[in-house]
Amino acid sequence: MWSQLLTWSGREFGHLPWRKNRTLYRTLVSEIMLQQTTVSTVLQHYERFLVRFPDLQSLAKASEEELLVAWKGLGYYRRAKNLKKIAETIARDWDGKFPEQGVDLQMISGIGPYTSNALIAIGMDRPALAVDANLERVLARLHGLKTAKGPRLQKQILQLFLENKIVPERHMSFRALNEALMDLGRTICQANRVACEICPMKKSCIAHKQGKALAYPAGGDTPAKKAIEHELSLLRVIVGKPERLQAYQKEKGEWLEGQWELPTFVIETDDEKFKQYPALTKKIDVSELPTVKTGITKYSIVNYILKLSAEEWKTWKFTRETTWRDGTSAESNLSTASQKCLKKI
Ligand code: SF4
Repeated sequence: MWSQLLTWSGREFGHLPWRKNRTLYRTLVSEIMLQQTTVSTVLQHYERFLVRFPDLQSLAKASEEELLVAWKGLGYYRRAKNLKKIAETIARDWDGKFPEQGVDLQMISGIGPYTSNALIAIGMDRPALAVDANLERVLARLHGLKTAKGPRLQKQILQLFLENKIVPERHMSFRALNEALMDLGRTICQANRVACEICPMKKSCIAHKQGKALAYPAGGDTPAKKAIEHELSLLRVIVGKPERLQAYQKEKGEWLEGQWELPTFVIETDDEKFKQYPALTKKIDVSELPTVKTGITKYSIVNYILKLSAEEWKTWKFTRETTWRDGTSAESNLSTASQKCLKKI
């Protein structure tokens, strides 16, 4: 069932640089780069990054500035920082060697189930499935899985995999299998477009046999969300208590015009034109602060929440005039993001 797929993938994509001279470090770098970035963009930056940081130790020792220069063009800088954090942890706590078990890999901050499975399957060529949206979709179609897309479907796929029901053959290369499924999902078996006639899996694909490829996974025909183009890290400041806090009103031409918002600063963005909030100039370690994720238009936002007393707030400079408001009352017309931050504390 799988040999045609593996042959096709090797023939079409075996040339990709992260599929040559394999090491776990090179696999880690490529996997982190390929999250949220297209193959063609990663191709322009991968080798250059590895020339600058050829191994885990060199990356662990890099300054933030060096790292960001090497990452330029790939966007989503948080991934670069994550990558460095992973390198530091492995260099410090694991004597520079990647742990081999998933449970140990996932103890490392920045490595979640997907990256852990990718390292095991692609890096170590051991049985594992790195289930992202591509694998989720392709496997739901191949096996006719009716569960709606999302965490439940991913869990179901991993469970079926453990029961040897997704891939009954255990003697194959799991590296090649994962890569081939990724290739299929990226090219022939896309979310809104399939080319079943040229698909190496068409003879065994349940969704194709039913003539319903696009119906899988369920929920897959909902309109695509607006593409996220930029990442933003914001600091949202809660001065006082939710019942009496400092807020300011958004002006004409700003996001959420007329609504009220917590004093907000930009910690980091990859959009140089972004002007909605002033930049954070105070030196603050935000790494331990609680966070809430939100999104607006083309921005994916991580909101860091800082609580201050009225006295402490007096030492801050904010470009807009703030006033006391009751953040718990509907009349306060607080933005959804500000309300989410209040709920978090
Ligand atoms: S046959 Fe069609 S639906 Fe099935 S895996 Fe191939 S492209 Fe996807």
